[in-house]
Amino acid sequence: MKIKIGFGVTEDLAVIRAVRDAIGPEARLMIDANHGYNINEAISLGRKAADYGIDWFEEPVIPEQLGAYRAVREGQPIPVAGGETWHGRFGFAEPLATRAIDIAQPDLCGVGGFTEMRRVADLAALHGVRLVPHVWGTGVQIAASLQWLAAQLPDPPRRDAIAPILEFDRTPNPFRQAIFTTPIEHWNGMVQIPNAPGLGISINRDALKEFRLKEPA
Ligand code: CA
Repeated sequence: MKIKIGFGVTEDLAVIRAVRDAIGPEARLMIDANHGYNINEAISLGRKAADYGIDWFEEPVIPEQLGAYRAVREGQPIPVAGGETWHGRFGFAEPLATRAIDIAQPDLCGVGGFTEMRRVADLAALHGVRLVPHVWGTGVQIAASLQWLAAQLPDPPRRDAIAPILEFDRTPNPFRQAIFTTPIEHWNGMVQIPNAPGLGISINRDALKEFRLKEPA
């Protein structure tokens, strides 16, 4: 489970505590500040939130502030994640080389497609940084990211490797699922990777029409 924070340290801690209480000690929990903090706030939040068993602290500060990322990483114990706004291997080179993050989150559609994602993944592996794709938007992106995850190499390479994580947005978005002939769903937190050719999905073009604002001339 991942929750949106970045509204202020006190409010965010109350939300984190409430969610941890609700989901119990076993479920994994991540927090995402969407650049809502400055360095000192992020460090303060991270030190206090660590008691609630947080897998990662996503986008604590403005993504272009790589020095701030490093300061947050050094100043509090939760692994720092980021990268949904960094594009291409050139965008990831410095964050990876300077250890601004523990977990890289390239977005398959934003980073430059499968080929560029592969290059970023290789770079991340070279620097020993874990990769968890950012996924947000259309169902096509979810399907593409699922195929990526199916082919992602185990990291670290060991028996019973860490299972790949699919970011699976649950906020209301009719467009996301309605365009599939067979919607992608989860069962107890697990998502089946479609085994049809290509991205494994078919687009319901009639459903697509319902979302068109104006017929093309
Ligand atoms: Ca995010």
